[in-house]
Amino acid sequence: MASYMQAAVVERFGKPLVFQDVVVPTVGPGQILVKTEACGVCHTDLHAAQGDWLLKPTLPFIPGHEGIGRVVAVGAGVTIVKEGDRVGVPWLYSACGHCEHCLSAWETVCGEAQFGGYTKNGGFAEYILADPDYVAHIPDGLAPREAAPLICAGVTTYKGIKVSHVRPGEWIAISGAGGLGHLAIQYAKAMGLQVCAIDIDEGKLAHARRLGADLAVNAQSEGAVEAVRRGTKGGAHGVLITAPSLRAFKQGIGMARKRGTCVLVGLPPGDFPVPLFDVVANCITIRGSFVGTREDMAEALAFAADGKVKADIEVQPLSAINSVLDRLERGDVPSRVVLDFEAAG
Ligand code: NAD
Ligand code: ZN
Ligand code: ZN
Repeated sequence: MASYMQAAVVERFGKPLVFQDVVVPTVGPGQILVKTEACGVCHTDLHAAQGDWLLKPTLPFIPGHEGIGRVVAVGAGVTIVKEGDRVGVPWLYSACGHCEHCLSAWETVCGEAQFGGYTKNGGFAEYILADPDYVAHIPDGLAPREAAPLICAGVTTYKGIKVSHVRPGEWIAISGAGGLGHLAIQYAKAMGLQVCAIDIDEGKLAHARRLGADLAVNAQSEGAVEAVRRGTKGGAHGVLITAPSLRAFKQGIGMARKRGTCVLVGLPPGDFPVPLFDVVANCITIRGSFVGTREDMAEALAFAADGKVKADIEVQPLSAINSVLDRLERGDVPSRVVLDFEAAG
């Protein structure tokens, strides 16, 4: 007889998630089943539930791509993980393993990639079916709720900073000091960079300073771009834009130093105008960055296991998901909410 689990399901875009008893998936060959201990709530889950992007998930689906838990069942042929291991089921749910991108360790852009909590059911549920080749391996000593934000917000910002090629002592401007940004600040400091945090919320800017930001600028203040350019003595060597706001993208380009790199990470729907002359004449690089590879994941988790980075979390039960998503939309979540499945028993 089938057993059931609690899940928060997107039945229609733009509507509250619906709590349902869903059949617990059974593992097929090459699959594993993970019993969820904790799952972070990313702004991407909000985009997913609202159907913000051109490529939409098929309804109904279970969001959540920061799910951490223990492996409770392994399918035939699985050797890389075993029952009892603690793993994370990330956005990069799986990839083909054979294309030019996979072969060059850029599995994040594999054309056949599947996305956790988007094209595959995710962690807003008591159990998650996962691909053992793509799960995150959670180091001992990291609690599930501490690990959860790292497997999306953490790896994404760590990778974004890496591809900015900013070197120790140089400046990185981090636009958006929320779920992604509060971790970006910590990774950047741990990597020896000077950090300028930018947000529209004074509380988040104050928190950014506590986390080590050397400079904090309110994006809504007049002359915000100038303030960053002045404070960084000519513009930041790298700009990491995590804010889910098109306005932040245009501003962010203006914050870059000559020959600097703007790394675009936030995913608000739509396009933004690029000031072509400035970008060309100042030799600015604009590049996108999408989560991180499995190698990036291991590195990002190691920073936390070594105590260099710590996610700031607010714990909530799964039953609170709709109010959490509402607060995320209003910019009313201080850093990261993590849904705790253990508290619920
Ligand atoms: P969040 O809501 O936790 O944080 C966003 C922060 O941006 C908030 O602190 C908010 O106050 C701030 N902000 C809003 N408007 C701003 C502006 N104009 N200027 C500066 N700051 C502003 O969201 P999050 O979970 O950190 O996600 C951020 C974005 O990153 C989302 O669009 C999400 O989909 C995207 N994302 C992308 C990737 C990727 O791989 N590229 C991975 C994860 C998330
Ligand atoms: Zn995410
Ligand atoms: Zn591939």
